[in-house]
Amino acid sequence: MVTKTKGTTDKTNNRTLKTAYESSNKIRRMPIRLEGESYVAKATLKVRLLQHTPEPEKLVAMAARLCYSPSGIDDLAEDVIHSDQQQFIKKLMDMGHYTTIEHISFTFGVEGVSRSLLAQLTRHRIASFSVQSQRYVGETRAQNKQGIFDYIIPETILQLGPEAVAEFESQMTRIQAWYDGWVQKLGGGRVAYEDARFVLPNAAETKLVVTMNARELRHFFDLRCCNRAQWEIRNLAEQMLKLVKEAAPTIFRDAGPSCLSGPCPEGKLSCGKMPEVRKKFGMIKSGE
Ligand SMILES: Cc1cc2nc3c(=O)[nH]c(=O)nc-3n(C[C@H](O)[C@H](O)[C@H](O)COP(=O)(O)OP(=O)(O)OC[C@H]3O[C@@H](n4cnc5c(N)ncnc54)[C@H](O)[C@@H]3O)c2cc1C
Repeated sequence: MVTKTKGTTDKTNNRTLKTAYESSNKIRRMPIRLEGESYVAKATLKVRLLQHTPEPEKLVAMAARLCYSPSGIDDLAEDVIHSDQQQFIKKLMDMGHYTTIEHISFTFGVEGVSRSLLAQLTRHRIASFSVQSQRYVGETRAQNKQGIFDYIIPETILQLGPEAVAEFESQMTRIQAWYDGWVQKLGGGRVAYEDARFVLPNAAETKLVVTMNARELRHFFDLRCCNRAQWEIRNLAEQMLKLVKEAAPTIFRDAGPSCLSGPCPEGKLSCGKMPEVRKKFGMIKSGE
């Protein structure tokens, strides 16, 4: 998948497209601009863990200690320092004592994703979102440095080759013209953006900040790291999982699609690749 950014499409030649495609899996956020070309592509997804609860595992251990010991709140931090928290947290996770991990939350910055992804992500109700507004942020040709709004090209279309990609890009260019036309007819400015955006596609790129607590994150990974999840949200979930594993390795040690720890919940729709999936997520470690 490539986010095509603000480049014109008509002059795109095969060499440029090939380079963009080949690079899409290797280069993160690196613009690809060949001499004399206006085509600019960047690899899709950018995910940053912006912030999380300080010492997340310590806080979880403190909350759980309160449940199981006669300690008062003044003794909790002391108790936690003097015992093995990793084993304790592993036990909590194995027991399913998940309320303890609701106390810690993680905030991500995400960009290079489509509006189509946004529709799926925001179905997760135990999460908080701030999304770049198409009402306040205009997408006219003049407002975009390269003359076109940012958009996501699905991998399947990239794999069809340069002609298919050129067709997709030409459709995006046409949409840009429709959008500009409506902004002009509606008098420009915020009110115009509000209604002109109705012609923008699901492919349009968006940026957002999302916060989830660890319990919701584990649930999100159950559903969205699964091979049955749509590719774009699956890629996002996998990136998020890597990041939280760095911050709270014990809590997310066994996080991932449901089939890591039990039978596939998809029944007849199962991808049938449980051994491969288990191997893959066993290997997704922090910092990889
Ligand atoms: C492979 C796949 C295919 C999908 N296909 C479709 C589709 O075709 N159409 C469609 O509309 N959606 C579809 N979805 C989205 C799906 O229906 C859920 O909306 C989405 O996955 C969020 O899951 P959730 O409700 O469990 O999570 P969250 O909203 O994050 O909630 C987390 C958990 O909190 C609890 N909870 C939250 N709110 C309530 C509540 N009001 N009452 C009781 N308990 C609550 C539940 O236990 C829930 O599992 C699909 C999802 C996946 C993964």
